[in-house]
Amino acid sequence: MIIDIDKLPKDGLKVSRNFDFPSIDLIEEDAVFLQPVHGELTIKRIGEEVMVKGRITTCLSLVCSRCLAPFEFAVDSRFDLVFLPEDVHEMKDELEDEDLDKIFYKSHHIDLREVILEQLNLTFPSKLVCSERCEGICAVCGQVRHGGNCGCLVKEPEGRLGKLKYFMKDKS
Ligand SMILES: [Zn+2]
Ligand SMILES: [Zn+2]
Repeated sequence: MIIDIDKLPKDGLKVSRNFDFPSIDLIEEDAVFLQPVHGELTIKRIGEEVMVKGRITTCLSLVCSRCLAPFEFAVDSRFDLVFLPEDVHEMKDELEDEDLDKIFYKSHHIDLREVILEQLNLTFPSKLVCSERCEGICAVCGQVRHGGNCGCLVKEPEGRLGKLKYFMKDKS
């Protein structure tokens, strides 16, 4: 969905619709869309600046980095972006420091799909786990451990245990 900056209504344009993306567009290799992305967006122009504000929701299937099982990941992300025309970018030496993290639009158009996909790709946590308490795969039998109860006695190496104790003490 391409937004023509010059045709934006004065009060801003409201967009409420679903966006379909192929799962391959996601930066996480194993991520799969379970439903389309729903976007509620407002695009408003003030002078040369274009504000894109909104919320995207969807549900993805991701793969847990500990137990390798797929799990559902709900996305509910809000963002508030400011776009500047690209010709301002060329004079960026003259811009204030605070302007440098702004986004630039080309030839009076903004591709909303691109904006949404980028915001979506920013929502992934650095470590994908099905649950914070996921114990991963048992080093002895290779099964997924639930409550440590696959029947195997797993001896923690002492170094790691020591670290854990230190960490818990640190947290309290
Ligand atoms: Zn897991
Ligand atoms: Zn086991």
